Amino acid sequence: MLQFISNHPFTYFLFRRFILSLICIACHASSEAQQYQDLQSLKGYSFKLYFSSGAETKAARMAKQIDHVMAFYKQQIQFTPDVTLLILSPADWPKYSRDVVYGMPHYTGKQVLIVASENNDFWKSFIPPVDNLLDQLAGMIKKTYVDVNGQISMEPFFDLLAIHELGHAYHFQDSLQMQRKWMSELFVNIFLHNYIAQAEPDKLPALTVFPNMVIAGTNKSDLQYSSLADLEKYYDVIAQRHPRNYGWYQCRWHASAGTIYDRAGPTVFNKAWHAFKRQRDILDDQALAVFLADQVHPSFAEVMKGW
Ligand SMILES: [Zn+2]
Repeated sequence: MLQFISNHPFTYFLFRRFILSLICIACHASSEAQQYQDLQSLKGYSFKLYFSSGAETKAARMAKQIDHVMAFYKQQIQFTPDVTLLILSPADWPKYSRDVVYGMPHYTGKQVLIVASENNDFWKSFIPPVDNLLDQLAGMIKKTYVDVNGQISMEPFFDLLAIHELGHAYHFQDSLQMQRKWMSELFVNIFLHNYIAQAEPDKLPALTVFPNMVIAGTNKSDLQYSSLADLEKYYDVIAQRHPRNYGWYQCRWHASAGTIYDRAGPTVFNKAWHAFKRQRDILDDQALAVFLADQVHPSFAEVMKGW
């Protein structure tokens, strides 16, 4: 084999590149394993998963779910990104996460999705005094978000946000032109809603009751930032320094994603994916509204107009 290759320079070149790429993959894998040596890992899935000690049950559950999501979208859009999911305890969070509060799920831009392994003050900060809510909503909250001890916990909602972060890996790695920062957030909430509605509809209450609760319990005029223009301009400041304000934006996009899915139907994600892939130039607000209405669905454009 080697003799044959050395007599054929181009074949030899290809063979050498192949060997070098194998060495690179091996080096990358070992440097990553070293980087996460404090964490445990789960193997056998279509992505890499590292987690803090104590998070075994959650890691097994999320591994299975994220694997399903990736198989679901492989069928829908024939694309699979490279991702590593980290499920972190409060002690491990500062070592690997960006500068955001414990419990705020995020995508680091280096193919890494980060979520919290346990209940925390950030999640709890969204729970309103249930007495202040309409009876129907209070009843839904008590029914949907209860932990094994019978206490209200927002974990069933926040765990689903690993799928939101996975959605960012899809649009970044396949180089979609998302037009606006807020649009990429709305888009991945549709990615999440589209999957849950079709593949795990029993989880729709966990996905939708929390955003409705936050929207109903927030007075827009009390927020420091509330317009889409604010979000565009101060995205990092809001996400890093005003996490509850940022959470309100996300809840509005979750609610919008649900409305878009209900009105436009299960083909809307696929349509949006291809539209954002085709449209390479950045559009101004007027042209963007026309593009969304014509190329995706009028309900998409209404998010802008009705904000
Ligand atoms: Zn996001």
